Amino acid sequence: MDCLFCKIINGEIPSAKVYEDEFVYSFKDISPIAPVHYLIVPKQHICCANAIDETNSAVVAKIFEAAAKIAKAEGIESYRIINNCGDDAGQTVKHLHFHMLAGVKMGWGAESLGKTE
Ligand code: AMP
Ligand code: ZN
Repeated sequence: MDCLFCKIINGEIPSAKVYEDEFVYSFKDISPIAPVHYLIVPKQHICCANAIDETNSAVVAKIFEAAAKIAKAEGIESYRIINNCGDDAGQTVKHLHFHMLAGVKMGWGAESLGKTE
């Protein structure tokens, strides 16, 4: 399958691995927007959050288990998990992934969404 993150998971494309188990792979984002910016992805190819259903939703629990393990292992006390679903939300890679951001005080509010007109 011509999917960037599937290729990263199977080693065809190199990545800076952060964590791996049977279900999940995590690696450093190539264009970080925070001092800590990891991507956590299921090994199973799922295009996006909108394709999560009763047959595959268990991987989402595994993603959050992985995030907690990574945080503990790296002494990260505070972090944000983001999923972009669909073009308008900024999803550029069509393999389900969660951004794990940390290492900076983060704001919250409409301005973080950018211009909507
Ligand atoms: P999104 O925009 O939510 O689809 O996120 C895709 C993310 O993948 C972006 O933050 C990119 O910087 C990141 N990315 C793209 N190619 C690579 C790569 N080869 N290795 C690591 N991260 C990548
Ligand atoms: Zn994929």
